[in-house]
Amino acid sequence: MKVVTVVGARPQFIKSAPVSRALQSVGYQEFVIHTGQHYDPEMSTVFFEEMSLPKPYAILNCGNLSRDAMLSKMKTDLKPIFEAIQPDMALVYGDTNSTLAGARMAQECNVPLIHVEAGLRSYNLEMPEEHNRIESDQLSKWLFTPTSQASENLKKEGFSDNAITQVGDVMLDALQMFRSKAAHTLKMGPHSFFNKPFALVTMHRFENISQPERLGFLVREINSFHRNVMPVWMPLHPATAVRLEEFGLKLEVKIAPPVGYLEMLWALQQTTLVLTDSGGLQKEAYYSDKPCVTLRGETEWIELIEMGASVLFDPNKTEKLIPTARGIISSFKPGSKDLYGAGRASQAIVAALG
Ligand code: UDP
Repeated sequence: MKVVTVVGARPQFIKSAPVSRALQSVGYQEFVIHTGQHYDPEMSTVFFEEMSLPKPYAILNCGNLSRDAMLSKMKTDLKPIFEAIQPDMALVYGDTNSTLAGARMAQECNVPLIHVEAGLRSYNLEMPEEHNRIESDQLSKWLFTPTSQASENLKKEGFSDNAITQVGDVMLDALQMFRSKAAHTLKMGPHSFFNKPFALVTMHRFENISQPERLGFLVREINSFHRNVMPVWMPLHPATAVRLEEFGLKLEVKIAPPVGYLEMLWALQQTTLVLTDSGGLQKEAYYSDKPCVTLRGETEWIELIEMGASVLFDPNKTEKLIPTARGIISSFKPGSKDLYGAGRASQAIVAALG
């Protein structure tokens, strides 16, 4: 069985690690195509090395373009590769432009499509990710959902029950697979910084960084939290770094370059609190028994809010970050870990493919 996997962004490399191993274990032949959406070594190569991902069959050069230009270039570049491989199935993860480009190419080449992390909805159509999710789901033969809520979302949209399989979260599989290898490295800054309470912050979502007012508000709130509550450690996404420079905004916190997954897992083990607009990190905070402030007005991972593991901080409202963060630190109780399965999503996916 030949499977073409289209990946291109950091979270997809992480999600693919346990699934690639599961595919290999049952003898599937996987051809990984890296679109180059994320291309910096620290956003890409580090994950292939640390997680021993399969060497890509092809690496495209589709980074650093507007959404439309990126989708169009991915289409042009993916076509001959699909034609050369003649896969039996195509596999995509999550909600990025690479997800959608892979899904569209599968349809164009008549290749049955597998969507891992299907059914998630923020119901915010201003997010490009929401468009990517909805269309990728529509093009899929196999819809592997992480939660019952995601399965329900698909059923409400009229997807057939037969196409939907709730398998849990492949990111939990990854975390369980790699957490014993978590490690501090000097790239993160001195080890002594992490010995005292600190907050781990990441921020990169288009809706948070694309407007100077909204990014400026978030920068002021994070700086104030850093000065008045506890030091902030922030591995800075390259897209955020560009916008901060462009808008003349200054973070006064402890900045690091983007770090590898094993470093992130280590930071998660040490931190007091997570502040993030990342989908993946919201769940990793929960898996690591850490309270989380989600720097958005809504989330696809609604269960985390409902069970009190995370709280929303909507930058469109004039709330203050400090009371929101203090509130979740004091109310947080480490809960059961079974909201997103038991860390066997990859095996469930492979089993369902038959
Ligand atoms: N991550 C990482 N290094 C970093 C920041 C994040 O390894 O410097 C990991 C993080 O632990 C999670 C994933 O990247 O597993 C989340 O990716 P990202 O926030 O880019 O995307 P999202 O989850 O929002 O789609």
